Amino acid sequence: MDYPVRRVLTVLVLIIPLLSGCAGSLSSHKHNEIPASVYRNSLHDIFINTPSHHNIRQSIFKPEFLGYLAYLVSTSQTLDEHALRGSINRWNAVASEKSEQIHYNPVHFMRVASLHREGNNLCTRVSECTISLEDINILRTWLSWRLNYIVTIPHTTIDTTQLSLLNPSKQPRLQTALQKLSHNQAGVALIQQALDSGLVIRLGQLQGSHGYYDFNEHTITLDPSVVNYEFNLRYLVHELLHACNTAEENSITEEVLAELIGLRIQNQITGIRFELNPYLVLVEHVLHPEYGQLSFNNDIYGELAIAGIEL
Ligand SMILES: [Zn+2]
Repeated sequence: MDYPVRRVLTVLVLIIPLLSGCAGSLSSHKHNEIPASVYRNSLHDIFINTPSHHNIRQSIFKPEFLGYLAYLVSTSQTLDEHALRGSINRWNAVASEKSEQIHYNPVHFMRVASLHREGNNLCTRVSECTISLEDINILRTWLSWRLNYIVTIPHTTIDTTQLSLLNPSKQPRLQTALQKLSHNQAGVALIQQALDSGLVIRLGQLQGSHGYYDFNEHTITLDPSVVNYEFNLRYLVHELLHACNTAEENSITEEVLAELIGLRIQNQITGIRFELNPYLVLVEHVLHPEYGQLSFNNDIYGELAIAGIEL
């Protein structure tokens, strides 16, 4: 199946109508209806160029299969390609339906084998890769991982003049977006951190991308579409989260947290809830041609804690 279509199917979109539990108030709350364009724009497009063979349900990322791999690895230490293919054959031999079968994919194998690694030691040749229990445990941890954070700094009010420091080119829509964010508890922590570190946000046409953070310049560039639309606020949060990282090295974990926290804060601001499954977001990043090459971890948890967001 085509990858973007499958993503729409696998991403659980929950809508909580703001009807105060009263059907009679439907017409008076019409302004809370979700515009159709949200559905087109809400789901991430960063995977659009990802090859379409990432069917997670029939890959080694399948949760039940991970349990089987964990059992195998606990008895034989590590799994090379030959051992993995043997385990897939045994799994498929007892599958009662075709949809239960696992397809071997060398890229999946190499990415899983690279999860628990030192530095940037990405496993790039099938013959040199082995899957360890640590690799599998990283995935199994994320299967049950849920976004849960507390904001440890007192809720302060940030006035317009302070917000303008982040927005030196005085873009009115960026100012409005920052104002909305400054009324959110975690949002204000990110803004305060950005102000303390002298961050600058600019608008600029970005072909196909919503925003990026330049570590050396300590600036964020956002596509104008991000600040024109409330349901794109998560991209601003995403980049602000990157800006909290005082070290240059990015990580898969940082990207996933930026996605999930960005959406959580946007949901709180819009009052309309979209949900992403953390495990699926993680796997998509692991398989992404660029993000998948990053280290799995960096100190993003510690950096966010300094900003006042404790996970
Ligand atoms: Zn990012």
